[in-house]
Amino acid sequence: MIVVAIDGPAGSGKSTVADALATALGVPHVDSGAYYRAATLAVLRAEVDPTDVDAVTAVVGRVAIDRVDGRTLLDGEDVEDDIRGATVTANVSAVAAHPAVRDLLLVAQRSGIARDGGVVDGRDAATRIVPDADLKVWLDADVEERGRRRALQAGEPERLDHHIADLHRRDAADATQMVRADDAVVVNTTGLSLDHVVATVADLART
Ligand code: C5P
Repeated sequence: MIVVAIDGPAGSGKSTVADALATALGVPHVDSGAYYRAATLAVLRAEVDPTDVDAVTAVVGRVAIDRVDGRTLLDGEDVEDDIRGATVTANVSAVAAHPAVRDLLLVAQRSGIARDGGVVDGRDAATRIVPDADLKVWLDADVEERGRRRALQAGEPERLDHHIADLHRRDAADATQMVRADDAVVVNTTGLSLDHVVATVADLART
């Protein structure tokens, strides 16, 4: 059983690399950001201001968030598609910034890891969610490259400037919760293919 933590900024390739690595290692992929996204959807549906810590904490405290077969469930409803949309993305950093929200989601993010191992991706996976991970990786890439990936994923290559600006905004909004572990191996993915990055990280995991 192996536990790997992969952290880094938005668009660094964490989620894609974590997913491929989890498959290669035969362990579950824990997408810790999905929990913040589902919590944000609950907050928006409750029409609560994402910066209102008491109201946000109350909403997040009464919902159940689960991940099953790569899908995210909010009180049993499959919300995987909804949580990837622009509205949740624009508000998630504000919800994730509340320490009380982070405490509430930690138990769910960790569930199953002690039993099955896993590849956990996020912003604080190595420092907070699985601080005893066998391998800690910090993935990074130039903001222009991250913007290009995001624009392509969104099918909007002509809106590159918009995606780069959005990443600058998210990097700033996530600055407090984005923590690089002192013992993380830094992998800069600028100019590297996904296969190359996965092979590099898999080699690190097996040594
Ligand atoms: O990884 P993803 O982009 O889906 O994460 C969405 C948001 O959730 C991030 O922008 C960040 O605000 C928050 N997050 C976090 N800590 C994590 C994972 C995600 O604060 N471990």
